[in-house]
Amino acid sequence: MAVCILVVDDEPQSREMHAAVLGSWGYKSVVARDGFDALLKVAEHSPDLVVSDLRMRGMSGFELLSVLRRRYPEIPVLCISSEYDPLHIPPHVVCDTLLKKGSYELAELRAKVAELLRGQHRASHSKRPEAVVWLPKGRDDYYTVTCTNCLRTFPVRRTTEKEHSEEHTSCTHCQTVLTYFIEGSRA
Ligand SMILES: [Zn+2]
Repeated sequence: MAVCILVVDDEPQSREMHAAVLGSWGYKSVVARDGFDALLKVAEHSPDLVVSDLRMRGMSGFELLSVLRRRYPEIPVLCISSEYDPLHIPPHVVCDTLLKKGSYELAELRAKVAELLRGQHRASHSKRPEAVVWLPKGRDDYYTVTCTNCLRTFPVRRTTEKEHSEEHTSCTHCQTVLTYFIEGSRA
C-alpha cells in the first residue's frame, strides 16, 4: 500500500501544488481544507504523515496540531509556516519539523518528508506531554474551548486579553486539564 500523506491548507492553489508534488514522488496524497476537515480525513485514511499550514480559518493549524498530537501521537507532522523559524520552533507549535513558507526548496521538503516517514527527527516534540489549545482573541466574555482529549467543546470565561499567555482549564466533560493560549489574529 502506498504511503499516504495528508495535506492541510485553506489555500486551494498551495494545497493542490503540494498534493501534486507529493504524488510525483510516489506518495498517495489526501487533502483537507481546514482543521475540522483534516480530522475527518485522518480518521478516514490513517495517513502516515500530515503536512499542515498554520494559519487557517475555522480550526487553525495550531489547534489541529494539538489535537493530532493528543489523539494520534504516532503520526508525524510537518508544518509549513511563514512566521516561525525552523531552527527555533516555539513549544506551543506542536509539530516535528517546520519549513518556512515560501522560502524552502522542494528538495528540502522531499528530504524532510522522507526523514519523518523513517521516524527520524521526532524525539523532542513528540515527547511533549501536553498538547495545547489555541483560541481566537474575540470580543465575547466566553471562549469556546475544544477538548484535545474528548474533542467536545465547552465555554470558558475570559480572564485575560494577553496574547500567548499560558492559561489552564479543566474539560467540563472529561476533566482533562487543558493548556490554552490566546491567538491574536485569526480570520
Ligand atoms: Zn474532554
